[in-house]
Amino acid sequence: MQNDANSPQPIAKSQILEWLQAVKDPEIPTISLIDLGVVRGVEVDAVTGKVSVHLTPTFAGCPAMDYMKRDVERTLLAHGVPAVEVEISMREAWTSDMLTEAGRQALRQHKLSPPPVIGNQVFDLDFLEYAECPNCHGNNTELRTPFGATLCRAVHYCHDCRQLFEQFKPV
Ligand SMILES: [Zn+2]
Repeated sequence: MQNDANSPQPIAKSQILEWLQAVKDPEIPTISLIDLGVVRGVEVDAVTGKVSVHLTPTFAGCPAMDYMKRDVERTLLAHGVPAVEVEISMREAWTSDMLTEAGRQALRQHKLSPPPVIGNQVFDLDFLEYAECPNCHGNNTELRTPFGATLCRAVHYCHDCRQLFEQFKPV
């Protein structure tokens, strides 16, 4: 690459990712799009400095993608990125396993139970029924309704705390 004083240095990808940590899920303000696993790729054009961000939607029923897209654009432009392109990509389906460990912690902070890690196991009813209570962290719990306040959440009951709580559903 030519080091021409007239052309701006492209911003490092690690810097872009750091800035994107400030973009939070509109419904769960403790979790960033990075920790949610929604940011699937970042590319920086070495010539123009233009940044392309690939996002993958979480639940089809969560209408927050447009908001997330605008928030990513706004955040990067505010940091002086010359041009931003956000692409919503359906190529790779989002799964709750894409949540990072920091993301699971952020859900707990928001008093939402993180989904169980599915890994290579076959997804079955056990995953829907299993939940970790965000209050006592126990799992003496019972699924009450698979749909909570939003399609992304299920409602469970903790027998130890005698309380209902919401879980970010596994998919
Ligand atoms: Zn509990």
